[in-house]
Amino acid sequence: MIDSSLMSGLTEVAYLAAIVLFILALHWMNDPRSARRSVSAGAIAMGLAIVATWVRPGVVHHLWIVVALIAGVAVGIPLSRVALTAVPQRTALSHAFGGLAAGLVGTAKYFLWVGEDPAQLTTLRMTAIVLETLLGFLTLTGSLMAAGKLHGVKWIPQQPVLYPLQNFSNLALLAIALGLGVYLVIEPAAAGSHLAFAALIVLSLAFGVLLIIPIGGADMPTVISILNAYAGLSAVAMGFVLDSRLLIVAGALDGASGLILSIIMCKAMNRSFTNVLFGGFGQTQVAAGHVEQRHYKEETISGAAHALEQARRVVIVPGYGMAVAQAQHRVRELYDQLTTRGIEVKFVIHPVAGRMPGHMNVLLAEAEIPYDDIVEMDEMNPDMPQIDVVLVIGANDVVNPAAQQQKGCPIYGMPIIEAHRAKTVFAIKRGKSTGFAGIDNDLYFQDETFMLFGDAKAVIGELVKQLSADEG
Ligand code: NAP
Repeated sequence: MIDSSLMSGLTEVAYLAAIVLFILALHWMNDPRSARRSVSAGAIAMGLAIVATWVRPGVVHHLWIVVALIAGVAVGIPLSRVALTAVPQRTALSHAFGGLAAGLVGTAKYFLWVGEDPAQLTTLRMTAIVLETLLGFLTLTGSLMAAGKLHGVKWIPQQPVLYPLQNFSNLALLAIALGLGVYLVIEPAAAGSHLAFAALIVLSLAFGVLLIIPIGGADMPTVISILNAYAGLSAVAMGFVLDSRLLIVAGALDGASGLILSIIMCKAMNRSFTNVLFGGFGQTQVAAGHVEQRHYKEETISGAAHALEQARRVVIVPGYGMAVAQAQHRVRELYDQLTTRGIEVKFVIHPVAGRMPGHMNVLLAEAEIPYDDIVEMDEMNPDMPQIDVVLVIGANDVVNPAAQQQKGCPIYGMPIIEAHRAKTVFAIKRGKSTGFAGIDNDLYFQDETFMLFGDAKAVIGELVKQLSADEG
């Protein structure tokens, strides 16, 4: 039998190993080559944390750990099988569960201590409980709303819901919740404190809903990463309540990474971060300026295939349309056709191409495009004038020169892939629709651009067929 001090030492070592693995897991996410290793490291770290908690001296409710494990596995397995396009809402659901756990732990600890031993409710603990409950429950309802909007749930309005004094009333609600929190920290066990705690829960749940309703469905990915940060912060507070260093570190990693990702996304979309934090952004944007009758120049498949064969350097810019068409495997065939001819082919991915962070990277990885041929936008832009052909596949906003040229347009200031500076551009899209930002794209009308209208998968399939025929 291992004695209890040795066992607590071993538990601490296991927690430390879990913390190191969590940090490595985040670090390995930096590169697609190490991303799989990162996922395994995260899973091992979580496994270690659960086993260490199971064997930790003083833990008596082992049955509850088993119940939680079974429930987690039962919910987690179906959630892991969702389609790639549903990953943002799946992620939102995970945050909702995290928020619920934090909120419930905060509530349970408060009522347990207030009933049995109010002296336990020190100022530090009570502050942590209030923050944990507030952030936990607002993350729960906010994330459920975000998941519902993204999934197109009928009874959740997809359009932003706006009303007068919205930000003011939201902030007033938050101020009342914080006021109740301060009261609870000062008077945790007074006669009216139970009621104040219940009101704090209700206000937090309501605030989560009100925070999300002014935001349009398509802007949800940014909001989801902010909710990720909130879930992380509530886990940090939970760590203080439960006296768990592991939770404090894991929550801080979660919170910081969510915050950093939201800032990166805001920058890449030229959004103001404070706007996102206080809601009220992402209203449906209307087409800017007057609608002018302009004419597209079209190219035939054989003409485009010929130009590609003649090129020395080709850049492929994938966008949301490639994901819609699921064209990634055809794109791989095209890549093979061109590279076997000795043509240099590079993929340039914009940080917000598609509808979720890493959307294009995942699709290209699925098609086994070599990582070395995927380059950063900043690395490729200076070389653009030397590129013979840029092939834009279902991308629009991320190659729209209006971001650099039209002051006041919704994407003005957003960094773009400067396809318009290349020698020739072929753009594949189905019709004349705008992209996510709802604005026209001058790139399609410039002298060097030629349209290949049609579904991306079909058009690239035709190009591959033509190139194979030319080869034979
Ligand atoms: P985009 O601007 O939305 O444009 C996509 C284009 O693809 C459309 O113009 C559409 O035109 C075309 N398309 C759709 N289905 C197609 C198909 N089956 N075959 C061929 N073309 C098709 O996409 P983007 O250039 O990738 O830019 C992403 C936008 O989403 C940015 O504005 C970004 O700020 C925003 N956003 C991104 C994220 C993120 O995390 N990545 C999150 C939120 C918002 P047709 O209908 O005419 O074919």
